[in-house]
Amino acid sequence: MAGKGNIIQRIKGVKDILPPDVSVWQWVEDSARETFESFCYSEIRIPIFEKTGVFSKAIGETSDIVEKEMYTFTDRGGESLTLRPEGTASVVRAYVENQMYNPPSAKKLYYMGPMFRAERPQAGRYRQFHQIGAELFGPEDPGADAEMIHLMMSIFENLGVEDLTLKINSLGCPECRPVYREKLAGYLDSRREELCDNCARRVDRNPLRVLDCKSHACGQIAEEAPTMTDSLCGECKTHFDRTRALLAAVGVEGKVEPRLVRGLDYYSRTAFEVASGALGAQDAVAGGGRYNSLVEQFNGPSTTAIGFAIGLERLISLVEDKGGVLAPELFFIPLCAEAEEKAFLLARNLRNDGYLVDMSYGGSLKSQLKKANRASANVAVIIGEEELAKSIALVKEMKTGEQSTVPLDELTQWLDKHFMGEE
Ligand code: ATP
Ligand code: MG
Repeated sequence: MAGKGNIIQRIKGVKDILPPDVSVWQWVEDSARETFESFCYSEIRIPIFEKTGVFSKAIGETSDIVEKEMYTFTDRGGESLTLRPEGTASVVRAYVENQMYNPPSAKKLYYMGPMFRAERPQAGRYRQFHQIGAELFGPEDPGADAEMIHLMMSIFENLGVEDLTLKINSLGCPECRPVYREKLAGYLDSRREELCDNCARRVDRNPLRVLDCKSHACGQIAEEAPTMTDSLCGECKTHFDRTRALLAAVGVEGKVEPRLVRGLDYYSRTAFEVASGALGAQDAVAGGGRYNSLVEQFNGPSTTAIGFAIGLERLISLVEDKGGVLAPELFFIPLCAEAEEKAFLLARNLRNDGYLVDMSYGGSLKSQLKKANRASANVAVIIGEEELAKSIALVKEMKTGEQSTVPLDELTQWLDKHFMGEE
């Protein structure tokens, strides 16, 4: 036996998702797909890694992600590559590279899959985690903002996840945001001594980020800071009000959170986050917002967009357990080589008919029946030399122990009648 020291262990901060837990994941993913489709979103599959510039350029050099969370390495050709820390930058890269803006119409995309961030692992925070996200390219109308937020909330609703807080804010536009930025920087400068080291540096480079800082001291200072909401220009204010009115029309209540800035550089106007009191310290289950300049930054035609990402691990910890063990309906027990060949053929036909069929390989009848029991099979189909000679099978219902002798060429009809109620 290998000692524990000899076992190769997974990387810290990543998880194996094992059966039966994986069935909850499948259920959540399937439900999300249905919701996306009901809103006419199509799936896009983007690569797991990209040239580092895709992320550093889009997410922003001063963001937490780019400053300290990216898994970046140099490949054999000397190029800097990065495991994707989020989906939006790659989707925008793909949108531009594949000219998805042609023909010009709204493009509605969703994705799901693993993301990678070199963070300190803790409950609800992993180094490989999963996101479900969507992006809508084209319309700048507040209808698009409301649709995106409604779509995200519908995913939660369809999974039966309740008691979520939707926080919503407007980050302004290139007209009004710089004015606010100046106002905020002035205020923060006057309290620079009290800020954490990181934020003291950020006052000049990116003062909005200070509002997002998790440290207690900075939180207090942010509380008293001037708000973006009070600095919005007329157009941004109208856009924000209309977004909320449309959300109200579908019963989605958002709480205006004037200090919500989100940790990424690319947002403008609508930004939002969803939190759950049931999650503990890492309470954000989803976040998103409008990003109007990213497509242009990637040298695509001026196209506005909005998107969100849901953290799948945190979402799954909120859904009522819908997992289930995958149990075979039929469990074949062949007792000789020739019977095994016959069982292979019968199993193939029954699988094609839609049955869940498993097969036992070797051992005494008693030990194989034990296996059928352990697998929670409904029925064991036993074929030994004697049965084969008579062209019959012994069909044993595992729950009742009841046994029937069934001719092999009538097996399908017999099973259909007993298990599907078909004549
Ligand atoms: P946080 O404030 O928790 O660090 P974030 O702002 O970095 O979150 P986003 O980049 O907005 O997160 O990602 C969207 C969602 O992805 C989050 O709301 C969260 O549910 C999930 N998420 C982000 N980072 C992790 C992680 N390291 N492990 C697990 N889930 C994560
Ligand atoms: Mg983070």
